[in-house]
Amino acid sequence: MDAPTGRPLISLVVPFYNEVDTVDGFFATIVPLLEAMESIRFEIVCINDGSTDGTLDKLVRVVTNDKRIRVLDFSRNFGKEAALTAGIEEASGAAVIPIDADLQDPPGLIPVMIDHWLKGAEVVAAKRSDRACDTFLKRTTAALYYRVHNALSEVKLPENVGDFRLMDRAVVNALLSLPERHRFMKGLFAWVGFRTVIVEYQREPRTAGKSKFSGWRLWNFALEGITSFSTVPLRSWTYIGLAMAALAFCYGGTIVGRTLLFGNPVPGYASLLSIMLFLGGIELVGIGVVGEYVGRIYDETKERPIYIVRRRYQASENVSTLPARRGETGARNVTTLHVARRRAMDARMGR
Ligand code: UDP
Ligand code: MG
Repeated sequence: MDAPTGRPLISLVVPFYNEVDTVDGFFATIVPLLEAMESIRFEIVCINDGSTDGTLDKLVRVVTNDKRIRVLDFSRNFGKEAALTAGIEEASGAAVIPIDADLQDPPGLIPVMIDHWLKGAEVVAAKRSDRACDTFLKRTTAALYYRVHNALSEVKLPENVGDFRLMDRAVVNALLSLPERHRFMKGLFAWVGFRTVIVEYQREPRTAGKSKFSGWRLWNFALEGITSFSTVPLRSWTYIGLAMAALAFCYGGTIVGRTLLFGNPVPGYASLLSIMLFLGGIELVGIGVVGEYVGRIYDETKERPIYIVRRRYQASENVSTLPARRGETGARNVTTLHVARRRAMDARMGR
């Protein structure tokens, strides 16, 4: 860390997954921009999230020449949420800004965010004022998702606000005290709260490479969000069951009445079969929903680390070689979470 200069340290957290074509452009844009801001110091924490192209080599080259930049190399692809968690844990700044490597989050907004922060905002979140660069399908499904999520969950997600934001140290510490392994960051950001200022921006197309979020991955991401922040789908089965029982009771009454009045000519094969199939389907959906939650409980109880770091790359003060810390794992991260959880418990019990 630099000698204290009175200038606050800002940490950028950047996840990289197969971004070989964007690495150079990213640093060429971001470093001069941050250097031009004389009121701050900065560090850039890069996470190589199991890239299988030449991303790591490029990152290591950048790190060798600049001790303000460091890289955590994951042992495999753990996903953007894990990468952000690792980066936020690693960051030591007074404010932390997660930003995508593809420059879809405009770096020009960073000075604006810092201005708001210096004036007292605890979170400065960037909101896409339009999503013209997304496909029609992505735009409509995203809008639908926000609506469904916010209808089901007590913690509302602000619409079109992504991970690009500035967070004060107090907010970062609050985030780090959340012990869960399923880390739906957008939801966690909303859950911790704090005084938030929204700044709007136009989302640009990617500078290079392609999006890592396919339709199926987005669907699972959406499920993750809803199951992490709402138990309504689980509880709704009580009401669906009650409604079905009430309908069955009425239908039973009708059949008894009809049999008493008109006798029983044994009709009903078609209705019986369709009701059976319908209820069978409904029951399976119900079990599926329960399964989604049980699966997540199972994952949480295993208490596995959220990520594993294969190696850390950082140029030391005077030398431009890279002292490696071998064998480092996300266990550090689990320890942090355990300590945070124990502290919270102690505080609650007045210890
Ligand atoms: N990313 C990651 N791990 C993944 C997928 C994505 O670290 O498993 C990173 C990616 O390198 C980029 C950011 O997350 O820096 C956003 O990804 P992308 O641009 O593909 O998402 P989109 O902008 O299309 O939503
Ligand atoms: Mg992108």
